[in-house]
Amino acid sequence: MSQPRTPVFAANWKMCHGPVETGAFVGRFAPRHVRRDDATVVVFPPAISLPAFAAAVSGRPDLEFGVQDVHTEVKGAHTSGIAAAMVPATGATWGLAGHSERRREFGDTDADVGRKLVRLLEAGLRPVLCVGETLEERESGRLETVLHTQIREALRPLDREDRSRLVYAYEPVWAIGTGRTASPDDAAEAHAIVRDRLAQADGCDAEGSVILYGGSVKPANIEALLAASGVDGVLVGGASLDPESWASICAAGG
Ligand code: PEP
Repeated sequence: MSQPRTPVFAANWKMCHGPVETGAFVGRFAPRHVRRDDATVVVFPPAISLPAFAAAVSGRPDLEFGVQDVHTEVKGAHTSGIAAAMVPATGATWGLAGHSERRREFGDTDADVGRKLVRLLEAGLRPVLCVGETLEERESGRLETVLHTQIREALRPLDREDRSRLVYAYEPVWAIGTGRTASPDDAAEAHAIVRDRLAQADGCDAEGSVILYGGSVKPANIEALLAASGVDGVLVGGASLDPESWASICAAGG
């Protein structure tokens, strides 16, 4: 029997909101956000803002948070790297892996993403594996191949039990930060591809896996996207930076 899928509303702040702005954000967001028992809300601030986020949400255990990236190695001479094992001490319980900006700007490969998933799981963090195609890949008919490859290679180093602990985010690269959103039908099609691929992978609970949509989600389109078949929540960049806009997104589908 598959687990029921609890919706997740996730905010990726990227390189925005340092410690001071983080405190101010939570001060405006927290009173506007009514705790939901039917959904999980999680914010991924920049690593340097994790302690400020933790301090600002103390007393609000419903506001979860995570790290945007970790190093592939456990520890050592990797200047500027963040070891997954260092993260839980901040109170963070989640971690992103494979965001397209990491793949594009820092050259993260599918194998790197797999190693990062291993590190996150070793540290007891809940990973979100991000996958998605470029416009060129979509227009040349390679959507399915790209998603299958990204998932297969990232899952390769994970054992069966660990695989069942992942959350997935389908994020078409052409919709990230561009204002161009996938239609609900596009999202449903891609989510079905992701779920089909999970059904082929040893140890994955395809029907029980939470798959988020990400790419220019905003208050104006959140309801339509959440209503799309197989969309279990959202990963939001730009529209999560404003407390009112993020509160409105987190109230959707309730
Ligand atoms: C993201 O960074 O994961 C994202 C989806 O960004 P945006 O919402 O700004 O497109």
